[in-house]
Amino acid sequence: MAPAHPPPPLEGKKRRIGMMTSGGDSPGMNAAIRAVVRMAIEANCEVFCIYEGYEGLVQGKEFIKKFEWSMVRGWLSEGGTLIGTARCMAFYERPGRLTAAKNMILNGIDALIICGGDGSLTGADKFRSEWPSLTQELVDTKQLSNEQIEPFRHLNIVGLVGSIDNDMSGTDATIGCYSALGRICEMVDYIEATASSHSRAFVIEVMGRHCGWLALMAGVATGADFVFIPEKPRGRNWKEEMCGIVAQHRKIGKRKTIVIVAEGAHDQDGGKITPEMIKDLLADKSGLALDTRITTLGHVQRGGTACAFDRYLATLQGVEAVNAVLDATPETPTPFIAINENKITRKPLVQAVLDTQEVAKAIEARDFDKAMGLRDTEFSDMYKSYMTTTSTGLNKSMLLPLTKHMRIAIIHVGAPAGGVNAATRAAVAYCLTRGHTPLAIHNGFAGFARHHGDKPMGAVREFNWLEVDGWASKGGSEIGMNRETPQESGMELIASLVKEYKIDALFLIGGFEAFQSLSQLRQAREQYSSLCIPMTLLPATISNNVPGSEYSLGSDTCLNELMHYCDKIKQSASASRRRVFVIETQGGRSGYIATLGGLSVGAVAVYTPEEGISINMLAADIEHLRKAFREDSGQSRAGRLILVNEKASKVYSAKLIADMIREEAHERFESRDSIPGHVQQGGTPSPMDRTRAVRLAIKCVEHLEQFEDRTDESILKNPQSSSVIGIKGASVVFSPMKDVEENETDWKNRRPKDEFWVDLKHIVDSLSGRPEVPRPE
Ligand code: ATP
Repeated sequence: MAPAHPPPPLEGKKRRIGMMTSGGDSPGMNAAIRAVVRMAIEANCEVFCIYEGYEGLVQGKEFIKKFEWSMVRGWLSEGGTLIGTARCMAFYERPGRLTAAKNMILNGIDALIICGGDGSLTGADKFRSEWPSLTQELVDTKQLSNEQIEPFRHLNIVGLVGSIDNDMSGTDATIGCYSALGRICEMVDYIEATASSHSRAFVIEVMGRHCGWLALMAGVATGADFVFIPEKPRGRNWKEEMCGIVAQHRKIGKRKTIVIVAEGAHDQDGGKITPEMIKDLLADKSGLALDTRITTLGHVQRGGTACAFDRYLATLQGVEAVNAVLDATPETPTPFIAINENKITRKPLVQAVLDTQEVAKAIEARDFDKAMGLRDTEFSDMYKSYMTTTSTGLNKSMLLPLTKHMRIAIIHVGAPAGGVNAATRAAVAYCLTRGHTPLAIHNGFAGFARHHGDKPMGAVREFNWLEVDGWASKGGSEIGMNRETPQESGMELIASLVKEYKIDALFLIGGFEAFQSLSQLRQAREQYSSLCIPMTLLPATISNNVPGSEYSLGSDTCLNELMHYCDKIKQSASASRRRVFVIETQGGRSGYIATLGGLSVGAVAVYTPEEGISINMLAADIEHLRKAFREDSGQSRAGRLILVNEKASKVYSAKLIADMIREEAHERFESRDSIPGHVQQGGTPSPMDRTRAVRLAIKCVEHLEQFEDRTDESILKNPQSSSVIGIKGASVVFSPMKDVEENETDWKNRRPKDEFWVDLKHIVDSLSGRPEVPRPE
């Protein structure tokens, strides 16, 4: 029973924070709850979970429950929301909100963190704005006294956007959207195989009433033939346009047709476009006459566990939400936690809610340019990317005049990483749309150099569209990848080959070796005139250690593989004895994968090369494990994980650490080492790696196009003529190689000098309850 009076003021505690999930569920909500609960306790607050969304707030009593640290153990790997969610009609009305306010005060809760969609956050904003009048009404109607409401004059609300639709303005991603996209892409990949076998067409309906993000991104990630999204209906001739594109794709030899349609798709006059209409068009006997099937994905899109991105996004945003509560003053506008590119920020909730409603209104008023304009830059970039890569050769307006056509060579340098093929496909499509000649250099610089002479043009040849069209979802590197740098292959030879093949611009895709190669080529320009061409690098390596960017293609795929591996291993312990797994991760001399992996799976400790490992540190961690197992309530029998980067220490390997733990555990618990190894390079690339590959690759070729004056002098003078594209904070930027090489690179350790994620290690530690351990000197 809830007390009839608010509890006494918190002794020595800062706040009582309420946490709820509301609206449609989305993968990652549990990670947000776990982070809020643990961070709030860590920050000396009390935390209450409110079950069943606003319904629980209105019902009160057993729906509002105090949470302790151990109650969220293992929640990272659970799908849906474990505190329930519901649509609550009562909360739309003032009397419902009045009861909710009373229940909050009776439980002593003075701050609320809500994870939900735009509806839930609209409700939250209304609640906050009415709060003074609601508390006054509680006094006026004698439900509570003035003294009772006094400590609750100000209500702090912080929004976390949990929604699979990604329909909230002001943030690039919502908690759950990449998991849903992952599910869609997985299904489309399966369908593609059978479509190809039978030469069939499939119309796939995905969620999104007002927002086409899922449909558009799925189209980009899978290389679908056509997409329909609500924000940007096709022209009035959409039927002819779609059939024209499909017919062209079939003509060049494609055996499958995939059309993705958002559930809210419509034509320019507001008439609904249904999967049945599309099917009838594709199957029409007098036209394409394709054997066409419809697949409606439905609720599989919501289900399942969260992907790595949603887990660490929800975790970091949950932590930020608690910080926002603690920082709030009565004057602070209510924030929600956003992410822009790679930066987590607080933004005013009211504005975002208004902007989001504007999109729906603009669609209704058929002002589609406005609707697109209100979506973030990533969305419009993606739309442009999609249009460029799907209608290759049909979009004559994008063709450049003959004098501006270039021979653009594409080379993969390093080790395979998810998204490399997708980037190549997009670059080739963009080149063809513009009239350039895309050239494949096989097997990196080694292949370029070795095949010269006996097999002229063997290692270098023109791409054609049909061969790359199926690469959107392919892992590995279809043109071959090699770690050799131009200096190792022979710079003179490389320079002469660039001249021989009349290469006007070079597009490198790869990891630290690609970065090194570009640095060498740049420095050799003074000596070799043929190297005075624009060159740009798109970082792609699972280690995410390329200076100039906070993100490399492939790192997201790797994190997902590692996370699935850890989830399984953790679960395997549930049937056996209590166990600690010490898992060795890849990543070279960068602890990125270990740390973000640790955030995604809830590791007890993460060992990185940046920090190193010492005997005192291990001793402290073993002591912590002993304590944790001693205090285990038995609620969760899953194992505990320690992630150790392959180069964290020359001596303390995963095996040695596991042996030490076992020895010291005195049979109270078990310890095993485990090495996922090359599994981490991934099979099928993740949707994030695929979609970012497309967007960034097109930007790279656009960048190369800018150098119309390619005289030696002009190229040498322009620092941007050798550059690396990167996501830095909230922006996508091209950084001149010279600057990055000289100022941002730790050459000895093959990683950036400042790694943006280093501080995130503290969050892994805080959320696993790891005590302050002695760090190596
Ligand atoms: P999804 O993205 O899945 O649609 P959502 O949060 O937008 O999630 P809604 O059903 O719109 O889902 O809202 C969830 C709950 O939030 C509602 O059931 C209601 O209790 C509350 N709510 C929504 N809009 C308002 C509003 N304008 N005023 C008061 N409460 C609201």
